This record gives sequence, structure tokens and C-alpha cells, in this order.
Amino acid sequence: MGILARDGYELTPRADDAEVLVVNTCSFIEAAQKESVDAILEMAEHKKFGAAKKLIVAGCLVERYREQILEQVPEVDAVVGTGEVERILEAVEGDLRVLPAQPPSFLYHDLTPRIVTTPKHAAYIKIAEGCDHPCTFCIIPQLRGKFRSRRFESVVREAENLAAAGAREITLIGQDTTSYGEDLGLRDGLAQLLAKLAQVEELLWVRFLYAYPNRVTQKLLDTISQHSKLAKYVDMPLQHASRNVLARMKRGSNGDAFLKLLERMRATIPGVSLRTSFIVGFPGETEKDFDELCEFVKAARLDWMGVFEYSDVDNAGSHALDEKVDAETITERRNRLMAIQKKISRENLRAQYLGARLRGGKHQDFTALIEGPSKENPLVWEARLEGMAPEIDGKLYLIDIELPSGEVANAGDVARVRVTRTDAYDLIGRVVEILPRPAKRPSLAKVPPLPGGERLHRITTGAPLRVLG
Ligand code: SF4
Repeated sequence: MGILARDGYELTPRADDAEVLVVNTCSFIEAAQKESVDAILEMAEHKKFGAAKKLIVAGCLVERYREQILEQVPEVDAVVGTGEVERILEAVEGDLRVLPAQPPSFLYHDLTPRIVTTPKHAAYIKIAEGCDHPCTFCIIPQLRGKFRSRRFESVVREAENLAAAGAREITLIGQDTTSYGEDLGLRDGLAQLLAKLAQVEELLWVRFLYAYPNRVTQKLLDTISQHSKLAKYVDMPLQHASRNVLARMKRGSNGDAFLKLLERMRATIPGVSLRTSFIVGFPGETEKDFDELCEFVKAARLDWMGVFEYSDVDNAGSHALDEKVDAETITERRNRLMAIQKKISRENLRAQYLGARLRGGKHQDFTALIEGPSKENPLVWEARLEGMAPEIDGKLYLIDIELPSGEVANAGDVARVRVTRTDAYDLIGRVVEILPRPAKRPSLAKVPPLPGGERLHRITTGAPLRVLG
């Protein structure tokens, strides 16, 4: 989007208005693939009946079905794989239709123009791309290529630019963030990067997503505990707890080792919020394996948990494994596991956020980032606490954003809040103090000039837009 905007194209979230439609696809699992194909077919209709003259398919589905997409959906004019992002202009302008598949190697940097589609106060930064782990259920290494890190300074500069443009929270992402810097010869690369980003003045929180269990070092945990701006939050997908299933997944380890690791994390980072995800119904998962997982979840008492139903993807290693679990059993196991966690989550939230009140002590207030009016009900506002990552965890719903002085909180404000009620996954509270906003400093980014406005096209993206140089 950044490359197109820099070249003078106007972006629109309305497919009806667009002359060029770009569908960015996912093909991680069956459901994502289906959603991607549905979106392509829906956009193809716009090409038949709307203003659209061109339809481009980009992203991971292209890595799997490059030629088939063009053959089976004749409305598609070009495909752009994950390694060809920088060639989007050629696709829009008509010189590119299909490229022979190359191992994806694209990695953006701080000078790659980028449109940030999240609200101004919270941004994601991708710090690495690809993955070298051999997990048998996963085709991400095939779709995204070998693990490669962005340069340290490039990430720092991007974070500074985003902070100067109003970001209060940065979330670092990548398929395997805990390996950050290994390919650059950095030792404890992620810990070093986090320590550096913790110095960016305007930021309230810096967090990272997706720790690989055996890459979580003591140095990383110490770093998180030492810097107040580093969110006391770790998302570490464990995928299972039975030794047997983890071995078939080629992830090694077992539930006891995970419990020890969680204990060490909690001891090093008091109050840390922990999130994980599991896959149920992996080929060969017996009732005994699943029981082990249930016992693990009860013992681990994690703050947030996601459960994915195993999905057989034809070019994943696990596709060839026997003893497939039937779909009904998989769904039933998912529901059972979620029910166990729901009870734990309810108890955790109550103890963590209402504990002081229940003990009859003084109210304990918390720091929150105000997100804005809730989409479901604009009379209620949404906010997040340090232990809640954007988009995925529970939320704090604010029933009152106005102080007795008449001061009103805005989206992007940082406030002290009082939690008045807790539920299974969400909290209810009100604002008790709005904290001062950081002083503005000139953006470090140089916004490249747009070429003359004659050739103005519209591109659809499906998201509100903000241009950052
Ligand atoms: S570590 Fe994550 S991205 Fe890498 S292969 Fe395993 S599941 Fe896939």
C-alpha cells in the first residue's frame, strides 16, 4: 500500500470505487484459504459489474497456487507472491502477470513506504520474516521462506518514526521473534532490541508476539522485568503438552518442562500475563494425550489461551501421518479445553483486578490505553491494560470516560482506570485520571513527494488508512 500511495495512487476501502482491486490472501489453514478464495470471487464480481478494471491477488495463497489462480479465475490479471511485494507497481500497471515461484526473500526496511492501518496510537512492526523450525503441521516456512531478521537500526528507526507520529504502543511481530538477530550474528538479539526500544520516550508499552518455548532465555526474561516500558506479557504458543504429540509435531519438549518454564517466567517477571495456543486433534492424539493437555491447562493457569482445531493441509508434513482424529472429536475436544480455561480466566481476572477490593483494602487503579468507542456499542469505550495485547485478548470496557472536572478521555490517551467488574474474558471499569500526553516532536521520517496528480487511480484495501513516510 505504501509503494502504491507513494506512486500517486489513491487508496480506498470501498471496492465499488476502485479501479484496481488487490486481494491480500492467507493460506495457512483450510479455513483461511476458503476465506481468501471467497474474497477473490467476490472481487471478481466487482470487476464484471463495477468500476474495477483490474484484479490482483497477492500473498500466501499465491505461494501455493500461483498458476491455478490465474487459470481458474480468469478475472484475475496478476498474482504477486510474498517475495514480490516490491513489484506491486508492475502488477498494477500491467507488465506483470505471473512470475516463476522463487524462494520468498522479501524483507521490508525503514525506508520502504508503509501505510499503517491500525489506529494511530498502536502499531505493529515486523522484525523478522520466515521460519526455520520443522513443525510438521505448519507450511509457513514454505510460504514465507527461511528465517531472516531486519537490521537492528532499521527496526529502531521505524519505532522512533511511529512514536513521533503518535504511536504509544508497539507490538513486534514475526513468525519466530525469539530467534531475532541470530542470522545477523547478534547474541540475545530480541532482548537487546527490546532494551533499546524501551528508551523511546513517547512509548507506553513495547510488546512482542510469538515466543518459541526453547528460545526463551533468562536474559530475555530479565530484560522484560527491568524496563517499565516493556509490557509484562508473553505470548508463547505451546501447541500441546503431551510428549507423544509434541514429538509428532517435531517440537520436542513436554508439559513438565513447560510448567517449569512458566514458573521461571512468573518468578522473574512478577505479575506477567501469559498467553498460549494449542492445537487439538493432531494425528495420533489419543484420549490419554488430550487428558494430559487438560491437566496441563488446569495446572498452568494461564491468563489467555487460544485453541485451534487441527486442519489437514496437503503439503504439510503431518498430512502423511496416520491415526487422523475425526472432525467431531476435534471440535468436542476444543470445546472441553475452552471450558476449562474459561473458569480459570474468570478466576484469574477477578483475583488480579478486583483482588484489593475483595480484601476490603483500598482500590487499586491500573494504567490503560484508551482505544475509542466500542464497535458493538458506541456508548461504551474500549481500552486495554498492560496484560492485554491488541485484537486478541480480552478488553476493558469503560462505562465512563469523563472525569468530574469535565475532562474527557480521547482515543490514544493513557489513563488511570478503576476496574469495577470482571467477567470470563473482559473487564468493566471507568477512568479516574487522564495522564499527560507526550510533547510533539517533528517526525523523523521524510515523506517522499507525490508525483503530479494527473494519474490518480483508486486501490481498495478494506481498512482505514494513514500514510507514513
Ligand atoms: S515455529 Fe511457528 S511458524 Fe515456524 S514452523 Fe513452527 S508453527 Fe510454523
